[in-house]
Amino acid sequence: MPEKQTSPYFASDIYFTEPLPWLAQTWQMLINQSQLSHALLFAGVKGLGKRHLVWQFVAYLLCQNRDSQRACGSCQSCLWLKDIKQPNLKLIPSHHLPTLIDEVDKNKKSSAKINQDKPAKSSIKIDDIRALTPFLSQHSDAPRIVVVDDADTMTVAAANALLKSLEEPAPNVYFLLITDSPTKLLPTILSRVQRVALTIPTTPIIIQGHAKDNNIQATVNYIKSHLNQNVTDVQIQQALNLVQNAPLQAMELLQSDWYAKRDLWLKTWHALRTGKRTSTAASDYWQGEVYLQDFIELCHIMLGEVMRVRYEMPATTQDINWQAYSFIANIPIDRLSALQQTIADIQRSGQQNVQDKLGYDKLMQALAET
Ligand SMILES: [Zn+2]
Repeated sequence: MPEKQTSPYFASDIYFTEPLPWLAQTWQMLINQSQLSHALLFAGVKGLGKRHLVWQFVAYLLCQNRDSQRACGSCQSCLWLKDIKQPNLKLIPSHHLPTLIDEVDKNKKSSAKINQDKPAKSSIKIDDIRALTPFLSQHSDAPRIVVVDDADTMTVAAANALLKSLEEPAPNVYFLLITDSPTKLLPTILSRVQRVALTIPTTPIIIQGHAKDNNIQATVNYIKSHLNQNVTDVQIQQALNLVQNAPLQAMELLQSDWYAKRDLWLKTWHALRTGKRTSTAASDYWQGEVYLQDFIELCHIMLGEVMRVRYEMPATTQDINWQAYSFIANIPIDRLSALQQTIADIQRSGQQNVQDKLGYDKLMQALAET
């Protein structure tokens, strides 16, 4: 089993650096607001760099010596932030350390080993929100910030408790809410926060391997310079296309071991369908190769591609010889949809600490039967 790579994105490095290139405009908009709303929502698919942006903004708001663009990195407030001792900052859930901003890896720790010491995404409870009361009722001229990460995981009671604070904002207090799934937030919360417009790289247009759009080119360059291996512009564009243009997630794909096994996934599926391989053998093999959660991600991506091919649309992944998999054209669409559903179900049970082996066995069975 390959070692999981540790994330290169730590806030202690990024509080004071340049904003991510695709969020540069958003950053300008944030710091140039004449009157800052007391509740901001940072929402969008994972891998856009929302947390990166939030932590830079936290540093900027709290810094006692900032310039027009950035926190200073050396005043008392900035030092507190680096040491995770900033008294004017509260973070919910509290185990989401502000130094860990990698939003891609965060939800993927449910692979067998790590699962045992860390529960999957838990909800934010009313007590977590009530515990803020002393902090909110302090009298202080310095700004105070509450970051609510994964705000969509608030229980209804927690959301209602937060709502009270949002309706009667204490002076100098700012709430920064982060979510990968804004549709899961209560409408009452949504109506009380100002959503920050995140500038997302637009759909890449490649002309002879060169991206046309400057914003995209800056994003591609960023990805290139932050990866340890050589990747071409075309490979980067392809990865971006597969993940709704979320650059950090595209980086994760390109660095992962499983992304290179896309062709093998198709071969396994074909072998399972034709009975050349048993689901037990396939399950055993893949368990030794890829974590279950990564394999599920691989299934999602590949089935998305298979759907495109089935509908006779061009596949996003041009590095696969799709003609070798002509059997796809004959699979009924409702069977493919059912397979997607099964995979989503297994993913959910995986988050509830179901064993990898069990999940893998079910998956291979489902693939064989589709
Ligand atoms: Zn400072």
